[in-house]
Amino acid sequence: MADIIQLLPDHVANQIAAGEVVQRPASVVKELLENAIDAGADTIKLIIKNAGKTLVQVIDNGKGMSTTDARLSFERHATSKIKSAEDLFQLNTKGFRGEALASIAAIAHVELKTKQASDDVGNAIVIEGSTIVSQDVVVTPTGTSVSVKNLFFNIPARRNFLKSDTVELRHVIDEFHRVALAHPSISFALYNNGSESFNLPITNYRQRIVNVFGNKTNEKLVPVEEDTEVLHISGFVGKPEFAKKTRGEQFFFVNNRFIKSAYLNHAIASAFDGLLKTGMHASYFLNLTVDPQTIDINIHPTKTEIKFDDEHTLYAILRAAVKHSLGQFNIAPVLDFERDPNLDTPYNYKENTPSFPKVEVDRAFNPFNETASSVKQTTAYKSSGNSGNSSSSWESLYVGLESKGNVSQDDFGEVEFESEEQTLSIFDEDNQVEQSHTTYQIHNKYIVSTIKSGMLIIDQYRAHQRVLYEEFLKNMTTREGVSQQLLFPLQLHFSPQDIVIIEQLKADLEHTGFVFLEIAEELVEITGVPVGVPESEVSIILEQLISDVENEVPDSNFSATDLLAKSMAKSLAIKTGQSLQKDEQEHLVNKLFACKEPNVSPANRVTFVTMSVDELDKKFI
Ligand code: ADP
Ligand code: MG
Repeated sequence: MADIIQLLPDHVANQIAAGEVVQRPASVVKELLENAIDAGADTIKLIIKNAGKTLVQVIDNGKGMSTTDARLSFERHATSKIKSAEDLFQLNTKGFRGEALASIAAIAHVELKTKQASDDVGNAIVIEGSTIVSQDVVVTPTGTSVSVKNLFFNIPARRNFLKSDTVELRHVIDEFHRVALAHPSISFALYNNGSESFNLPITNYRQRIVNVFGNKTNEKLVPVEEDTEVLHISGFVGKPEFAKKTRGEQFFFVNNRFIKSAYLNHAIASAFDGLLKTGMHASYFLNLTVDPQTIDINIHPTKTEIKFDDEHTLYAILRAAVKHSLGQFNIAPVLDFERDPNLDTPYNYKENTPSFPKVEVDRAFNPFNETASSVKQTTAYKSSGNSGNSSSSWESLYVGLESKGNVSQDDFGEVEFESEEQTLSIFDEDNQVEQSHTTYQIHNKYIVSTIKSGMLIIDQYRAHQRVLYEEFLKNMTTREGVSQQLLFPLQLHFSPQDIVIIEQLKADLEHTGFVFLEIAEELVEITGVPVGVPESEVSIILEQLISDVENEVPDSNFSATDLLAKSMAKSLAIKTGQSLQKDEQEHLVNKLFACKEPNVSPANRVTFVTMSVDELDKKFI
């Protein structure tokens, strides 16, 4: 049989390599920034358009390339950084595989301009899909500029796979942060669609963190410093009280390279043991310096994973170092995490002057008069049923019934819904007026209503989310959200990267009824909010929204409008545990069934279940 194996042409091999190296615009950002650092630049500019889909450009003032090098840089396995395999274990550069530029040029339109300090003129090369289009002599400053346009122009499938601009921009900014945080001695700037998003001057590490994450970060940082034979650790951890629900601000750098390590992350988490509420994540910015011989970086093309020779020791040292810092800065004892947030004064009560509690004395009360006391007892049950604040008040209803000897405890318990119905109807006997109503709230969580075929049980939180979600979506698409003017503008502080997200969503937020007076570097000033949104909730809504955008699951279909509507619905919906008046219950039921998709919440969870009389009958067999 004839031989069938053949070598792939270079452009095909490059496209395949690109599949590993370039997943999205942010990967290009990472590779170009790293090349600029390797070239010894101390000023690096990143320019992007449409979240990098249309353009990623990096301009540096590094050492530039000669004419031949400029041409060679686009070849596969062409690198100036290593010469032999041994060099892999003495790495002082970010790059070494020599495949980034070749891969990028295989799937985009690339323009390179570069000049060395010793030359008067430089070189410009245009290359599209691995084909050199032109190579010219140009006048250009010392250093290198690489523009990558129309990413994945020749691979539509990959292009379609890209997420919305908001999500891709988020990835770009993440990558920019990682590189900028690892190199405070280099100045970085980021321009997004023509406007400056970040301008980070040369500074020290602490100040760099503050410049990236906002002035308020400064007070949150606790320094960590540890020097051992195998490892040097320096950097900061965030104080526990500033822990976040998202893992956003967690940065490990090993020899100035951002890496991901679940194992070392665990070391830090365990140092915070007992200091954080469940589900909260401490922030950290830690630089580990180790002997390059003791690590292997070449285990993944993106180089974000590293193999350490002795991970166990690193774990132990890291954990101890962080613990030590937290202890030294007296973080542990002052905190009280057991505090029940339910005991906090609600926002809208804060300004009210407290009134004296009323003391009512029943002067006619006679402990020896039995009838009088039993009457008292019934009213007490009734009022607890009315306010319905906790499940214990429901239980007290049963206690009352039992002591009256009307119903035995055994009749309850087994079938939840029926028993609730029972209680409610008994409750209604006390109050004839309410009997006309057809909805009941149970456990401040579900609304029960009778329907022709039986009964309906609605989850109030999910149902209300559905109602609000459809309302917000409608307002945003028809752009007619009604705004309510605030008496005084509301000033809210955010970190610069949160501001980027708010700016992205500004138009949509305005359609729901938000009015922004100003969106500055770390400050948002709001003069109007959507009707029905309490002023005290605004910062919570925006924070939730930012965290939702950050946590956007990469595979779900992302739309900013949709996400905003979902997030606001989630923040503003009537929560589980909130007691509702009869008319509120009915209103919610009616609104739910006026929705386009009443069956599911915006997160695709069931909003109600029905139980037919037949099903009920079966339970009584
Ligand atoms: P690697 O960084 O792994 O060496 P790349 O494909 O990223 O591979 O780059 C190939 C070569 O091109 C580098 O080794 C370097 O010599 C040169 N090069 C790339 N970008 C720059 C730059 N911004 N300034 C100077 N030289 C560069
Ligand atoms: Mg490189």
